[in-house]
Amino acid sequence: MTTQFDAIVIGSGAGGISAAARLAHAGYKVLVVEALDRIGGRASTRDVDGFLLNTGALVIERGGMVDLTLQHIGKSMDLYIAKPETSLIWGKREIAMDSGLPAFARDKVPGLLKFLTRVIPAIRPKPGQSTREWLNKFTRSKTIHDLVDNVIGAMFAATADEFPADVFLLYFTEGSAYKQIGLPRGGTIKVWEPMADVVTANGGEVWLNATVKRLTFDNEKRVNGAEIARDGEAVSVSTKLAISNAGPLATVKMSGADAFPEGYAQDVADKTDPAAIITVHFAAQKPLASFQGLALYAKTRRMVYAANFSEPSLRRCPPGWYLYSAASVPRPATGAFDEAAEKKLLLDDIRDYFPGFDDSMVKAIDVTAHDWPAQRAITGYDLPNETPVANLWNVGDGVKPYGQGGTASCSETARLVVEQIFKTYPLARLRG
Ligand SMILES: Cc1cc2nc3c(=O)[nH]c(=O)nc-3n(C[C@H](O)[C@H](O)[C@H](O)COP(=O)(O)OP(=O)(O)OC[C@H]3O[C@@H](n4cnc5c(N)ncnc54)[C@H](O)[C@@H]3O)c2cc1C
Repeated sequence: MTTQFDAIVIGSGAGGISAAARLAHAGYKVLVVEALDRIGGRASTRDVDGFLLNTGALVIERGGMVDLTLQHIGKSMDLYIAKPETSLIWGKREIAMDSGLPAFARDKVPGLLKFLTRVIPAIRPKPGQSTREWLNKFTRSKTIHDLVDNVIGAMFAATADEFPADVFLLYFTEGSAYKQIGLPRGGTIKVWEPMADVVTANGGEVWLNATVKRLTFDNEKRVNGAEIARDGEAVSVSTKLAISNAGPLATVKMSGADAFPEGYAQDVADKTDPAAIITVHFAAQKPLASFQGLALYAKTRRMVYAANFSEPSLRRCPPGWYLYSAASVPRPATGAFDEAAEKKLLLDDIRDYFPGFDDSMVKAIDVTAHDWPAQRAITGYDLPNETPVANLWNVGDGVKPYGQGGTASCSETARLVVEQIFKTYPLARLRG
């Protein structure tokens, strides 16, 4: 067994596998260590009685950094693009968001808002102001507030109370805002498989059911190896570089607080405040909704979005079945919440919007929270991807670039870290 690698990547989520693929594509020999029996982390797929359910992410942005990473390594995604891609459900009305007036408004309003906030400083958000406070300056309309809550919930797993107004403005005026999306055929896991293939094709390895227990350090306080529990056995590997996709808090735990300057471990703990999402996956033998792709909701108790996976070419459910996922952001979105009450609110919303739900089969109810969260940091509150250890970085949704979200932002963290590695640790120097 090879035990010496140029880089170890801890975790095969969107950030980890993107970093591993970029490094492997450039010739680095990479070991990816994944604790679970599948790659993809919170953007993966599991089989429940023949139904392919998401572990988290459902849509992938076309033209986003996941797409661009695949293009960079000479691969592509197989996405189903629904028509319309996104619908806004407003009472009984179903509004297609990618054509006509809604698409015009979606494409032009952010530009107008950007112009107005540039020329009228008084309407710019103040530093630290929440989206709720900022919005209150313009409208107290409950309908608008509910809609904004649900859009922020669907894209960032937060509410207007927690979400910084300047990030809201930045994302909707300059970000991609999930305008072009697709549902991966065969499940979200399929997006990452070509990345794992590039790792193994270039001399690296991907270990499943393997957990990094501890990182080891040399006298200069640089990572020089990892202790791994693999299929019940303890294995040690040596490495010159380490990228953690386990989240900044877990990175500290794996390293030990002594590996960092005084105060760093506490600072990471203090700044870690993950957000939650609850998802209900349900299936029926007749259609329960008419939207295709993704639906956003204007007015609900809690439900922020739903997705329809019934299209046969998605290969998500057995023939003759219709499969849906619907999700809510609990209140508060971070910290402790009443799980039973929050589940009930979501189920009540699903009953309202999916007539026949009570006769359907609930395949799973996922509460993604705490150490397996919706987002490790609400956008705007991320930690940096560098650590005080020169050859140890974090990637993933605890270290997203300012104003970004979702799997694309995790892939972007990988691109940024790998660019740093190319500059500081070019392969010739690393092996020389
Ligand atoms: C319900 C839900 C819906 C979402 N919807 C979307 C969406 O539609 N579109 C979108 O773009 N984003 C969406 N997101 C967000 C997106 O899924 C996440 O931001 C992203 O997948 C997180 O990726 P990551 O790089 O942080 O890695 P993670 O997903 O956190 O993966 C990290 C991996 O590291 C492994 N690991 C941890 N510790 C160790 C260790 N010590 N040793 C070995 N392995 C370890 C874990 O097992 C895991 O597989 C959604 C999230 C949720 C929860």
